[in-house]
Amino acid sequence: MNTYPDVQLFIDGVWRPASDGRVIPVVDPATAERIGTVAHASRDDLDQALAAAARGFELWRRTAAHDRARLMRKAADILRARAEEVASLMVRENGKPLAQARLETLAGADIIDWFAGEAPRAYGQVIPSRAPEIVQMTMKLPVGPVAAFTPWNFPINQVVRKLSAALAAGCSIIVKAPEETPASPAELIRAFADAGLPAGVANLVFGIPAEISEYLIPHPVIRKISFTGSTPVGKQLAALAGLHMKRATMELGGHAPVIIAADADLDLAAATIIPNKFRNAGQVCVSPTRFLVQEALADAFADRFVAAARKLRVGHGLDPETEMGPLANERRIPALEALVADAVERGGRLLTGGRRIGNEGWFFEPTVLADVPVSARIMNEEPFGPVAIVNRFSALDEAIAEANRLPFALAAFAFTRSTATSTRLSAEVEAGMLSINHLGLALPEIPFGGMKESGYGTEGGSEALEAYLETRLVTRRE
Ligand code: NAD
Repeated sequence: MNTYPDVQLFIDGVWRPASDGRVIPVVDPATAERIGTVAHASRDDLDQALAAAARGFELWRRTAAHDRARLMRKAADILRARAEEVASLMVRENGKPLAQARLETLAGADIIDWFAGEAPRAYGQVIPSRAPEIVQMTMKLPVGPVAAFTPWNFPINQVVRKLSAALAAGCSIIVKAPEETPASPAELIRAFADAGLPAGVANLVFGIPAEISEYLIPHPVIRKISFTGSTPVGKQLAALAGLHMKRATMELGGHAPVIIAADADLDLAAATIIPNKFRNAGQVCVSPTRFLVQEALADAFADRFVAAARKLRVGHGLDPETEMGPLANERRIPALEALVADAVERGGRLLTGGRRIGNEGWFFEPTVLADVPVSARIMNEEPFGPVAIVNRFSALDEAIAEANRLPFALAAFAFTRSTATSTRLSAEVEAGMLSINHLGLALPEIPFGGMKESGYGTEGGSEALEAYLETRLVTRRE
């Protein structure tokens, strides 16, 4: 097993401990053992990061987009070359199976490449004027230094989308990466540093999340905020950003419905969506959660789910046999136990799972509940764990109403052979992302984002760059 590092801050191009030497322990969720530490930034460190980001911005915004892109591609190549090592660090700190960590790291490199491609495409417009001597045009300019706050469930993916879009646009950035999983995002930043990113353009800090966000968001240097995490925290940060007139992107919670119509291909649905529920132990904002299955298929689908859940190999992420690792932190165990107990108390049926596994590490059984009433907490709160609910419906109207009942509107899934049903779902299901008959989310070239209380803005596709750009009008007489 590789050695886990004591993770440092990266400020103004230098890796270093906190100025006051404070550290936070890092724990392996598969064993609950302390494996290392991460530096806890002091106020002084944050001030230095802000000053560095301000200087970094002045330099980076003047760097030609093609040169920014070239450097980004070099960073992507470095990350790819180190993927094996980076992925095993991610397993140690997050618990996910090595294959998933490897995929996340390599996908991170692809995201960097994709945004590098977008960098020279920040086109403005020449707008036809009302007089021959007047030239009207718009320019796309980087918004300024960015503060990005990212969670522990995808330690690299959550950072790389924000970092790559910001750097492609010409912004500098301070990343507040997760204290639970600091080493793999630090390796991502290292790939950029080693590719030659100028000092101050990307800075990395850790500490107490609320203290850092409350300091950075109002700070005059910061012009743009991007946050991924829970809806309650997102609302607080969006309010703070609003108070200080800062641009914001919010990727918040979800509670994805999966509508399985009676005419669906059951084999396809089961093979596609069931493994997806248990990916990353269900700790995914787009994780399928409310399975709404039309009567005729409901029992057969639930049987498939139970069989798959019981067969799943749960274990340490570095064991090649493992298909699902532990939960990433201890607080998710009582949270999930309480949600399952409440669902059963209210009349839901526990088909399999529902408990912690063993007493070493934070493993939880792959769990399937059925016929859970909408009054149950789990039908309203994001479980963020390996728990599925299989409920039944008779008419499509009912399923659409249930899909749209919650304030969340991030991902939704559907399985049907009917074009008419697909068309109707596309028009009526409230979700930032709807995937029908396959899993088609999270590629770099397509939008990734929510509606309603799942947040606003997108972190994929060409619109993702827009979030880091301002439009300036220039009108001049020749
Ligand atoms: P939490 O709400 O305490 O924290 C969620 C994330 O936000 C963490 O990364 C945390 O460091 C950060 N955070 C919390 N308060 C902050 C603040 N004031 N300023 C800046 N960052 C702050 O919850 P948790 O126990 O870590 O995770 C559980 C819940 O969080 C889940 O139920 C899920 O809804 C949500 N979550 C969502 C995502 C996502 O991908 N959208 C990822 C992780 C967690």
